[in-house]
Amino acid sequence: MREFDFIAIGGGSGGIATMNRAAEYGAKTAVIEGNLLGGTCVNIGCVPKKIMWYAAEVSDTLHKYGPDYGFTSEKVTFDYQTLLKNRDAYIERSRNSYQLGFERRNVEVIEGYARFLDANTVEVNGEEIRAKHIVIATGAKPSIPGIPGCEYGETSDDFFEWEELPKKVGLVGAGYIAVELAGVLHSLGVDTHLFVRRDRPLRTYDSLIIETLVQEMEKDGPQLHIRSVPKEVRKNEDGTLTLVLEDGREDTFDKIIWAVGRVPNTDGLNLDLAGVQLDKDGFIEVDEYQNTSQESIYAVGDVTGNKMLTPVAIAAGRRLSERLFNNKPKEKLNYDNIPTVIFSHPPIGTVGLSEEEAVAKYGSENIKVYTSTFASMYTAVTLHRQSVRMKMVCLGEDEKVVGLHGIGFGVDEMIQGFAVAVKMGATKADFDNTVAIHPTGAEEFVTMR
Ligand code: FAD
Ligand code: NDP
Repeated sequence: MREFDFIAIGGGSGGIATMNRAAEYGAKTAVIEGNLLGGTCVNIGCVPKKIMWYAAEVSDTLHKYGPDYGFTSEKVTFDYQTLLKNRDAYIERSRNSYQLGFERRNVEVIEGYARFLDANTVEVNGEEIRAKHIVIATGAKPSIPGIPGCEYGETSDDFFEWEELPKKVGLVGAGYIAVELAGVLHSLGVDTHLFVRRDRPLRTYDSLIIETLVQEMEKDGPQLHIRSVPKEVRKNEDGTLTLVLEDGREDTFDKIIWAVGRVPNTDGLNLDLAGVQLDKDGFIEVDEYQNTSQESIYAVGDVTGNKMLTPVAIAAGRRLSERLFNNKPKEKLNYDNIPTVIFSHPPIGTVGLSEEEAVAKYGSENIKVYTSTFASMYTAVTLHRQSVRMKMVCLGEDEKVVGLHGIGFGVDEMIQGFAVAVKMGATKADFDNTVAIHPTGAEEFVTMR
C-alpha cells in the first residue's frame, strides 16, 4: 500500500495546484486522475474555448472590420481542420508541461478513478492508497434538463469534439457557456440561436452591461430568443433535431447544445464512507478554510460550487497547502472581489458588485454610479460600430469603488489591473488621480464624470 502526506482526487486546476504547492514544502504528494491531466480547463474548458474565441475574433477582423480598413477578404478561406489541429496540439503541450512540473517537484501521478474506503484511504484500480490529508478536487460536469428527447442534445464537452461545423445550432441556457459558445459559432458562420428562459442572458450581472450585450446581439450576433423554455427535443428522419418550447414555438437544428449549468462530480466517490457532507445543491460543503465535515479531508474548485473559475480553484488549493505545509494556520482564500471575464462578443469584464447588488446591500442613498458610453475606436471607422459601456459603482462619501464593469473591445484585457485597485480599496478620487493612457478604451475608467 502506498502512503502519502497529501493526495488530490482529481488532476484538474485545483488538484494540480494544491499538490504542486504542498510538494514545494517537502510533502509527499500524489495526484489521482481518472481522465486527462489538466481537467476541464485545459481539455474541455477555458483553453480550447479561448482558442475558439480567438478564431472568432480573427474571422470578425477579416470579414467585418478588415474591408473598411481597406483589406479585401473575398479570397479568404477557412479550414476548420487546421484550427482543430493547432488547438489540440497546444492543449497537448499544456498537458505535457504539467508532467514536467510534477517530475521537478516529485509529485506522483496515479491514473484511475478514486473512491473512498475510509477518511484516510482511497482505492484506485484495486490498489489501496493512504494519506494523512486528502483534497477532493473532482470538478463538475454539464447538467442536462430532464425533458423528453434531452439525450439528443449535446454539451460543451461535445462541442470541442466536433470534426466539422454544423450549419445551424440551437443553444439552450443563459450563463457563461451559452453566451460564449453562441458568439463563437455565430462569428464562425454558423446560423446560431440562443434560447434563454427569462428576459435576458446573464441575468445576475449588471443590467447596463447585459442590455448592451443584448443590443449587440440584435445588431450583429446570434439570434436571441427570450422567454423560451424547452419542452421537448424530437429527432427527425434526416437526423436534424427539433426543439419544441413550452409555448408551442419550435425550430429545427443540426445540433442542440445544453448549457444550463454544471453539477458536481461526486458520484462513485463513496463520500458516506469518508464522512463528507454535501450542501443542499449536492456540492461538497466546505468552510472558509476549504475544510469539509471530515477532519483531514478538504475540497477545492468546482466540486464546492463556489465561483466555478480556474483561478479560484488554483488560489484556494495553493492557500490550503500553505496552511497545511507552510505553517500558515490562517491562510485562506478571500472570495470577495473576484474579477471575471465572459468571452462574449463583445467581451464583458467585471469585478465587485453590480449596481443592483450595491443598492440592495447599502441602500440607493449610499451609492453613486458613473458610466461611460462610446464606440470602440477599432470599430468606429467601419460599418460595424461596436458599443463600449462602462460602469463604476461607488459607496459612501469617499466614493470607494465597490464595482467596476465593462463590455466592449479590449475589456477582457483591461479588468485584471483595475481589479487590483478595487481589491486595495481604491476610491473614485484614486482613479481620477491616475493619468489616462491615450488613445485606449481603458482610459475611460479613469476619466469618468
Ligand atoms: P476540473 O478542472 O473539472 O478537474 C477535475 C478533475 O477530476 C477532472 O480531470 C476529472 O476527470 C477528475 N475526476 C473526477 N472524479 C474523479 C475521481 N473519482 N477520481 C479521479 N479523478 C476524478 N474558468 C475560467 O476561469 N475561465 C474560463 O474562460 C473558463 N471557461 C470555461 C469554459 C467551459 C466550456 C467550461 C466547461 C468551464 C470553463 N471555466 C472557465 C471553468 C473552469 O474550467 C473550472 O472552474 C475549473 O476547471 C475547475 O477546476 P477543478 O480543479 O475544480 O475541476
Ligand atoms: P451558469 O451557471 O453560468 O448558467 C446557467 C444558466 O442557465 C442558469 O443561470 C439559468 O439562467 C439557465 N438555466 C438553468 N436551467 C435551465 C433550464 N432547465 N432551461 C433553460 N435554462 C436554464 O452555467 P454554465 O454552464 O454556463 O457555466 C458554469 C460555470 O462555469 C459558470 O458559472 C462559470 O463559473 C464557469 N465558466 C466560466 C467561464 C469564464 O470564466 N469565462 C466560461 C464558461 C464557464 P436563468 O435562471 O437566467 O434562466
